[in-house]
Amino acid sequence: MRDEACIFCKIIAGEIPSYTIYEDEDFKVILDVNPASKGHALILPKHHCADIYEIDEDTASKAMRLAKRLALHMTKQLECDGFNILQNNHEVAGQTVFHFHMHLIPRYQNAKNKDILMWNHETFSAEEMAEIRDRLKSK
Ligand code: 5GP
Ligand code: ZN
Repeated sequence: MRDEACIFCKIIAGEIPSYTIYEDEDFKVILDVNPASKGHALILPKHHCADIYEIDEDTASKAMRLAKRLALHMTKQLECDGFNILQNNHEVAGQTVFHFHMHLIPRYQNAKNKDILMWNHETFSAEEMAEIRDRLKSK
C-alpha cells in the first residue's frame, strides 16, 4: 500500500533518489538528507503507514529487530561511540514526514553537534505521579 502524496513512498519506489544502505522485502533504510550526525539513517517500512498508532505489531517488531542489527553494524563500520534510536509521532512530537520511520543516529565523543535530543525536565508532585501511574497501569 502506498500514499501517492508521500515522499517516503516515492523514495521506496525509487522515484526520488536516496542513499540506500539496506533493503529487504519489508524495509528500505536510507541516509537522512539532513543528518544530525555522520551516518544518520532512517528505517522505512515499505508499506505506507503514518505512525506508531497505525503500524501493525508484526512490522513494528521487525523494525526494532532490524534497528538492533543495524546499530551493531553501523557502530562497527562508523566507529561511533554510542547510538540513539528515535521515532516521532504527530507534529507535536516533531514528526515532519507522516510515513512511519525510525531514526538511527550514531553518536560521537568528538562531535561538534552535541545538542541532539536535549530536553528540559518537568516536575510532578507525588500526588500527580501516583495519578499518572494509576491512569497508565495495565488492568
Ligand atoms: P521526522 O521529523 O518526521 O521524525 O523525520 C523526518 C526526517 O526525514 C528528517 O530528519 C528529514 O531530514 C528526513 N527527510 C525529509 N525528506 C527527506 C528526503 O527527501 N530524503 C531523505 N533521505 N530524508 C528526508
Ligand atoms: Zn508513505
